[in-house]
Amino acid sequence: MQGTAKRIQKTSSLAPVKVTLRVRPTLPSERSHRAAFVRVLDSCNVSIPNPRMIAEDLTYTFDRVWDGDSQEAIFAECEEIVAGVLAGVNATIFAYGMTGAGKTFSMLGSVTSPGIVPRTVQTLLQTSQQKRLNLTLRASFLEIYNEKVFDLIAHDSITANGLDLREDANRNIYVAGISEVLVDNYPDFERTLSSAIKNRATAATKLNEHSSRSHFVTLLTATVKTPLSDGSFQTFSAKLNLIDLAGSEDNKRTGNTGLRMVESGSINKSLFVLGQCVEALNKGQMRVPYRDSKMTRLLQDSLGGKAKAMIIACVGSQEEYANDTYNTLNFAAKSKLIVNKVEVNEEIERTRKIPSRSGDEEQVDLDRNG
Ligand code: ADP
Ligand code: MG
Repeated sequence: MQGTAKRIQKTSSLAPVKVTLRVRPTLPSERSHRAAFVRVLDSCNVSIPNPRMIAEDLTYTFDRVWDGDSQEAIFAECEEIVAGVLAGVNATIFAYGMTGAGKTFSMLGSVTSPGIVPRTVQTLLQTSQQKRLNLTLRASFLEIYNEKVFDLIAHDSITANGLDLREDANRNIYVAGISEVLVDNYPDFERTLSSAIKNRATAATKLNEHSSRSHFVTLLTATVKTPLSDGSFQTFSAKLNLIDLAGSEDNKRTGNTGLRMVESGSINKSLFVLGQCVEALNKGQMRVPYRDSKMTRLLQDSLGGKAKAMIIACVGSQEEYANDTYNTLNFAAKSKLIVNKVEVNEEIERTRKIPSRSGDEEQVDLDRNG
């Protein structure tokens, strides 16, 4: 007879939200003779003219500032979080900024210049192969559009109301009924990702021809199970949210009306609530309004919770974006103050032979050293 028993091990450490800034290079369509509005001072500092006081500069300091850097350089800064996922640490990486600032380029990239999502999956699969890990990797794709959550894999089954966000016994937020695909090779993952991207709601606005109007989330779930010398199993499990947020547009500038206006309103709502959550956390307020929007509910654990978090704030360097850039820099600066209490999700599962004589069963000892 065999008995199994599980023990959940909890270790935690404090980790501030990592806040980075990516300044998008000038695009051919933007050539102007004016000096750039954003000035990158070094790898951690930028300055902009104070929009409220001419002749004064505002300087912002971040964990990292990128100025025309490569996709490789940006991913290098994410590698610690990706490695943590194989060691049981939940995490979120999200791109924030106005439409056209480079969020989708950073998170998804293109075939010739892949972004964080494809690089993360490649790295997880490669590491698992190199280290001979017993990794089970799963992926889900979802979008939050007009405050509704849609499954981007089982696209046919989209209902008008979308899916529910729920909380499990460990107070983790999950999307009820979302589809998952097993990721055991990169080409298959790439095909699923492309089809999810196609299913994402997009519409043309004046700002950006194919402006994405929804928050796009790639959710990766990793489980690594390792046999220990005493016959028990150690399991690390973690979730990684990779989020390409929709841009928050100024309706006057983009000329949105009708449906587009409604969309803009709800996009602004979740970004507005995100700002309120950051504010509440910074002030140490008891009530953080995570529940006021779907995006913040999903991010709950990554802002002031048990997960690691990294923000990639994206801005264009031109003066025409001055107002949005100022808002993005201020959001990013406030987010820097949030400290998470990061937990490792580890489980020890012990299987032991139990004597078959009834009433004389051996105590299942869960102590790994004992
Ligand atoms: P967003 O998702 O924030 O609306 P995009 O990522 O779509 O913005 O970027 C807008 C345009 O700028 C796209 O054509 C994209 O390819 C280009 N772009 C963005 N960031 C970079 C970058 N770092 N280097 C080169 N081109 C970029
Ligand atoms: Mg985009």
